[in-house]
Amino acid sequence: MKDRDKKVLLVDTTLRDGEQTAGVVFARTEKLRIARMLDEIGVDQIEAGIPAMGGDEKEAVKAIAHAGLEASIMAWNRAVISDIDASIECGVDAVAISISVSDIHIFHKLRMTRQQVLDAMTQAVVYAAQHGLYISVNAEDASRADPAFLLEFAMAAKGAGANRLRYCDTVGLLDPLTMYDRVKTLREQTGLDIETHTHNDFGMATANTLAGVQAGARYVGVTVNGLGERAGNAALEEVVMALKHIYGIDLGVKTTRFREISEYVARASGREIPPSKPIVGANTFAHESGIHADGVLKNPKTYEVFPPEEVGLQRQIIIGKHSGKHALKAKFLEYGINLTDEEAAAMLPAVRAAAVNLKRPLFDKELVYIYEDAKRDMSAHK
Ligand code: MN
Repeated sequence: MKDRDKKVLLVDTTLRDGEQTAGVVFARTEKLRIARMLDEIGVDQIEAGIPAMGGDEKEAVKAIAHAGLEASIMAWNRAVISDIDASIECGVDAVAISISVSDIHIFHKLRMTRQQVLDAMTQAVVYAAQHGLYISVNAEDASRADPAFLLEFAMAAKGAGANRLRYCDTVGLLDPLTMYDRVKTLREQTGLDIETHTHNDFGMATANTLAGVQAGARYVGVTVNGLGERAGNAALEEVVMALKHIYGIDLGVKTTRFREISEYVARASGREIPPSKPIVGANTFAHESGIHADGVLKNPKTYEVFPPEEVGLQRQIIIGKHSGKHALKAKFLEYGINLTDEEAAAMLPAVRAAAVNLKRPLFDKELVYIYEDAKRDMSAHK
């Protein structure tokens, strides 16, 4: 992996965890396009898929690995030698070797013993290291593991030649304070690079990722739109913008393409972007209430932390039930009409009545009709 001295490195798993979302399938061309986009905006590592699945998935990973991208290309593997062979055949430079570390997974899913888990992981890591691959050992369900066993597992991974440990909150039940403690302890005990991999089951995936960074995690695992199993993963766009604007950590990502990439992944995954989605949702820079619109028109910083252009969006002043005179005047300036205070005041009751009637903001045409009616009324009363 390049940029070894970056403070935080971005690992995108839209093409692996994102595609594991129930009902989501990317075509091979879509996977390649998404990988290119992620590379162009400056993602450090792309988890491209699971070569052991064979067929189209393996071909897609191979195509991405040979696309001449700047980013490191990682393939996902079970702790099984044949999986790693499939990854090597694809030409990737990095592997994620994944195995469960919680007793509930070890005994009920894998039907293995803890010792067998350690042995399988160690053998797979040693094998991958012999082939010169960058290795992330994924501690699946780490958040529910016995801390003593997790430490033993991490130290065995380090001894076998792993480059980092992916700390997986597989079922998404951590909160930021617990996440901070866990990552900090693991960092101090092992000295290993840690990657956060958080799920959003309680709506805390991004918060937990940030807590992980505060605790010393150098890698953050994310997906576009937060796509991923069940409630999804930490969203790429949320993590990047929060690091930049809350912590002052600028990863140098070309964020102006966020909305475009978000839309592409939404189409390819068949999962629409909710209007209220943080950072890239259509509503994030729409202002309707009179007080907010008035503030934003005077100085956008009154109600916006960063300008919409920074993520490829545009500010919208919505005219509806909650609009005031200033917003109305600003809206009409867009049409080249300079409303007087008197005209704006005369129009407001009709604007509000129409919005209540229609139960939505008004279209430009509807506003123009209201304007024409108001002007006629005003001249009739002169
Ligand atoms: Mn996951």
